[in-house]
Amino acid sequence: MKQVQLQTPKYLYMGGKIRPWEEGVIHVGAEAVVRGLNVFEGVKGYWQQNGDFGIVLLEKHYQRLQHSAKLLHIPCPWTYEQYRDATCGLMATMVEPGRDMWARTTLLVTEGYWGIGTVADLVITAYHQEQKIPDPIDLGLSTWQRPADVALPARIKTSTNYQAGRLARIEGRARGCSEMILLNSQSRVGEASGACVLIVRDGTVITPTAAEGALESITLDAVEAIARSYGIPFVRRPVERTELLIADEMALCGTLCEVALINSYEGQPLPADQPILGKLQAAYFDAVRQVKPHPFITAVPVQPGGVEDVRRAVSA
Ligand code: PMP
Repeated sequence: MKQVQLQTPKYLYMGGKIRPWEEGVIHVGAEAVVRGLNVFEGVKGYWQQNGDFGIVLLEKHYQRLQHSAKLLHIPCPWTYEQYRDATCGLMATMVEPGRDMWARTTLLVTEGYWGIGTVADLVITAYHQEQKIPDPIDLGLSTWQRPADVALPARIKTSTNYQAGRLARIEGRARGCSEMILLNSQSRVGEASGACVLIVRDGTVITPTAAEGALESITLDAVEAIARSYGIPFVRRPVERTELLIADEMALCGTLCEVALINSYEGQPLPADQPILGKLQAAYFDAVRQVKPHPFITAVPVQPGGVEDVRRAVSA
């Protein structure tokens, strides 16, 4: 897994403009701090084959941000165009040749009390990433669970939904696993702490439905669209924990994790050559880099700004 959080970027977006990183502060009394109240999206920008830089699937991330905000009663007055321009503006300020970027776009609740008078700010932080196919992952099964829809719905992308995942990763680290599967309240497969799970059985790609306790993943939709265009059978259905142990192939997918093959699951090695998921992984990277574009994977162009543009943006 990539350690993007360890970077200290020069800039961020907050309060309607790009600012120096040090200005990204929030009051300790805000609901964002007291109750961990926010909704967010992780979005990814890639250098493309023709030399352009583009943020992929941005409108879909905006739509999911709206859904999360609606479910937590957080007003989101930003239009897609405003959200897009803010995200593109920050990435344009920071992007460097030969390095991709990942951005966290968050609605942080700055005012309000138990749902009364709720006001959020759009805060965006962005990080550089090396251009490489993810290393295969050693995956384990956690004793922590995804909460049920009536407790903390998995389809809400909010920081508080990552507490069980954090505990699962701590548990996994002690066992040499960098990612962990969390089961749902019915003891079937939900998802990993920060990604959805794909297995192959008898030539069919299988993934749990979102109703099994998984985020409504945008990468998963992209992988499904690619699989369909290759004629590879793709099924969403409940998955039992024992099916993971007998899968022919296994991978995780998500915006940050992209499509990462599994090296071992619960200490059992998977084959290094995973023909179906390996093919989908290659096609995913070809699509996001526009080497072989796919109609599902659209990209919003970012025009890298020079030093002058950065000064202007920060002082505006
Ligand atoms: N599940 C969880 C818990 C996640 O954090 C993510 C990453 N956002 C995913 C699944 C994959 O979702 P997406 O493909 O939309 O990034």
